[in-house]
Amino acid sequence: MSDAPRTIVVSYRLPLTLRRVGPGWRGERSAGGLATALGPVVRGGRGLWVGAAGDAVTDADPERAALLAQWEEREGFVAVEIPASVHGGFYDGFANGALWPLFHHFPTRFHVRPGDWEAYVEANRLFRDAVLARLRPGDRVWAHDYQLLLLPALLREARPDLAIGFFLHIPFPASDVFRVLPHREELLRGLLAADLLGFQTWGHAQHFRWSLLRLLGMDSGLDRVEREGRVTRIEAFPIGIAPEEFTRPLALPRVQARVTELRGRGDVRRVLAVDRLDYTKGIPERLRAFRLLLERHPEWRGRVTLIQVAVPSRERVSRYRELRREVSELVGEINGELGTPEWTPVVYLKRSVAREELVALYAAADVCWVSPLRDGMNLVAKEYVACQEHGHGVLLLSEQAGAAAEMGEALHVNPYDVEDSAETLLRALTLPEGERRERLAALRVRVHHGTAHAWAERFLGRLDEASAERALHGGPSVAPLSVPDLVAAWSAARRRLLLLDYDGTLTPLRPRPSDAAPDADLLELLRGLAADPRNTLAVVSGRPAAVLEPWLGAVEGLHLIAEHGAARRLPGQAWQPLRAGADAEWKPRVRPLLDAFTLRAPGSFVEEKPHALAWHYRLTEPQFGEWLARELLATLEGLLAATEVRAVPGNKVVEVRFAWAHKGEAARTLLAETGADLALAIGDDQTDEDLFAALRPEDWSVVVGRQASRARFHLPVPDAVRAVLRTLSAA
Ligand code: UDP
Repeated sequence: MSDAPRTIVVSYRLPLTLRRVGPGWRGERSAGGLATALGPVVRGGRGLWVGAAGDAVTDADPERAALLAQWEEREGFVAVEIPASVHGGFYDGFANGALWPLFHHFPTRFHVRPGDWEAYVEANRLFRDAVLARLRPGDRVWAHDYQLLLLPALLREARPDLAIGFFLHIPFPASDVFRVLPHREELLRGLLAADLLGFQTWGHAQHFRWSLLRLLGMDSGLDRVEREGRVTRIEAFPIGIAPEEFTRPLALPRVQARVTELRGRGDVRRVLAVDRLDYTKGIPERLRAFRLLLERHPEWRGRVTLIQVAVPSRERVSRYRELRREVSELVGEINGELGTPEWTPVVYLKRSVAREELVALYAAADVCWVSPLRDGMNLVAKEYVACQEHGHGVLLLSEQAGAAAEMGEALHVNPYDVEDSAETLLRALTLPEGERRERLAALRVRVHHGTAHAWAERFLGRLDEASAERALHGGPSVAPLSVPDLVAAWSAARRRLLLLDYDGTLTPLRPRPSDAAPDADLLELLRGLAADPRNTLAVVSGRPAAVLEPWLGAVEGLHLIAEHGAARRLPGQAWQPLRAGADAEWKPRVRPLLDAFTLRAPGSFVEEKPHALAWHYRLTEPQFGEWLARELLATLEGLLAATEVRAVPGNKVVEVRFAWAHKGEAARTLLAETGADLALAIGDDQTDEDLFAALRPEDWSVVVGRQASRARFHLPVPDAVRAVLRTLSAA
């Protein structure tokens, strides 16, 4: 066996169901794309799969426990036993009553009862405990889906170094919808503890980032978010199917015979729909669209049949029972009003069908109509394509399905628009054969390429990269600075580079930026350090040149970096921009927005710098200020998306500046120019993290304050910084 890490897969359900048989129990293995994709990952001792093996447990049963122990031993399936008292609030309650409708954009169906949240937390703890009890050094964990949103944080708390991946199978909602949820911040933090977060589409990942910004005020890059010195990667991993699970049965002679039988007479076209009976699937909307087609185009009566397979689902929940009634009534109406003795418009199969029958239906269908109102991916769309081996069927696909992001050659449809749906179905029924074959061929390549197996491999590969990157950054702990150690290294160094932030580092933060002018003590300290020929001393500040120059320009030998690296001044020389020819057009667009925010927040103001704009809200009522800042960041992100300008949150300030104008760039330049063998960087806010990141592992990075940081060490307050500098100056 290879020395690849063991993988612990965690999902709500195991691919195993325990059923009561007489007085005892029997275990049944369930098939399905996820089981096929992850089977090889956990089989043969390569890992474990942790999940529930049935609905809920009412009381302890030794026979059940013995059977489960066998499955764990033989298959690596670890059963989490969820007591019935927890399961209701967890699964029917918070997971399916709150998360499922909201994540699928149905805020009106959302319903939480008192106690549901506590049950959700408790169930997530049960999953965590099951994982922790079996964890070995080097294991990696891959958690799945909306039932386990808190699991990454619960595991991280217990094992700071564990490699944790999470994949969300359902969509992530728009932030305005997500914010409806109680405990929304805890849920976001729960996910952020993972090293890698996977979504079905980039669209869902963007929704997630948007919520981070608006609810936690957390800035993120396109594919990552950094928080407390820890990186969480964000990526899209569209899940696929295992095509051979469909093509293999399709090749059987009895299935081929069934396909021929289903095709029957050539003059009735078969439109197939296959769904779980779930309100997200748009079944009533589809039936109404089908009725509209038959009403508007009576020439199709008797020539087209809709075969609707609807697999009963979550029948304990009243919403689902209502839906079942609605669908049955609609089918009855359509068949009653439009059917004839020779022709039934809708064939309604309210049950699950066996795999071979499903495959035959897919192969025999002229059109597959996939019309969810919202869906994470939708595998039916891919299964249909896989079964159209020699076919020329048409896939009609809702633009609200995750699959639509990949399957561009399908006929896309807005499932809410009944008229558009009817017309697009008509188009599907009348599409010329050449075009049908062309579209299908392109779709087939994609379905056979992006398999479930490839999906799992890719995810785990990325997880390894992400956790390796975290190990490199050394995790979230920042040690207090040991001054004697620093002094020893300092004295031994031949060339030293000092990179000092100004506000909050050399002087305490003041309510008004203009109040922070250097005092005589500071100027003398800087002069002393700059005078030593072994030192290169740079003040690396967010302040503009017009402020730094009168304040610090007279210190001989001092390098000044202004506006986070947008401009610099070598000792005794003139100020220079870091990059020539930078676009200045963005300011007139951004300024009015900042002014509007200033009007909304008494005490806030805009600072205009040569290369940047900053909105300060230190004097604004704190909670309101934070709230507005998030709003501003979110708005600016959209506004500036296509430019080289970015909005960056700072300490009670939102700064808008060039993406390349950051302290890290300035630090790298100085490191290269000086050839220093020791670098010491001290700073206090988010912009200084770039500075720390640019240093070499052996260099000295110091954050002022106790916040998490990628710096190696911390000092408590600016006075302590000055004390350390004084010691170094005397050393
Ligand atoms: N399916 C099934 N039995 C049936 C009909 C369908 O097991 O009688 C399967 C189908 O093959 C597909 C899955 O149910 O793999 C539905 O997955 P999809 O992503 O379309 O929707 P979900 O149910 O996950 O929301």
